[in-house]
Amino acid sequence: MLTLTGTTAWLRRWAAVIAEHELELTALDAAIGDADHGANLRRGTTAVLAQLDADPPSSIAEALTNAGMTMVTTVGGASGPLVGTLLLRAGSACGDRVSLTGADLVAALRAGAEGVRARGHAELGDKTMVDVLVPAIDALDSAIATGASLAAAASTAAIAANAARDATAALVARKGRASYLGERSVGTVDPGAASTALLLGALAAALAVAPTAQVDQPGRASSLRVGEPA
Ligand code: ADP
Ligand code: MG
Repeated sequence: MLTLTGTTAWLRRWAAVIAEHELELTALDAAIGDADHGANLRRGTTAVLAQLDADPPSSIAEALTNAGMTMVTTVGGASGPLVGTLLLRAGSACGDRVSLTGADLVAALRAGAEGVRARGHAELGDKTMVDVLVPAIDALDSAIATGASLAAAASTAAIAANAARDATAALVARKGRASYLGERSVGTVDPGAASTALLLGALAAALAVAPTAQVDQPGRASSLRVGEPA
């Protein structure tokens, strides 16, 4: 089960790993974009943290929609509205549930990913955050369907996210600034794919430290590879 406490732990952990990896995210964006992805997400997640402290959410839906709105309003780059939409749609899908089962979480994340696709028009293979979201949610869904605990399933999803992140290095960018480079975008991991893998790693970590944890190690965010093919 993912509770409100688990959800806020996820958001806090996300902010922490973004801060930890800010320079790596920016280095990826320097290679194929405009070198601001780390700073963009750092600004947004710092605002999310400040809001969690100033105005603690009273439901899972509120925690996610507040965070989403904060990302939309504080991040100037393409990624803010997109990750903001992910969280806003996921939050709305939670309704008034006080805890989420694995199936609920899958449904919420799928609604969020659909929102990203509707807003950014990126398809699988376009070298964007969608290339991490879709396989990671699929992995979460499959693990839940086979009876894994939510913590174990989230860990599996985080591992799938990291593999999908690495696989974006081989892709040609077709959306966002990196698309201006065409074939020259090959060889670098997509910055948004990398930060999305951190979001899923943070979820696994938050669930792994919960009392119901059934895995030994959370899907810790591994170090990102900058400018190096997977
Ligand atoms: P900007 O490109 O405005 O500088 P960021 O650097 O913060 O914004 O974010 C870039 C990331 O946003 C990309 O690496 C990619 O993952 C994601 N992105 C850009 N455009 C799209 C899109 N249309 N759909 C999905 N993701 C996108
Ligand atoms: Mg950028």
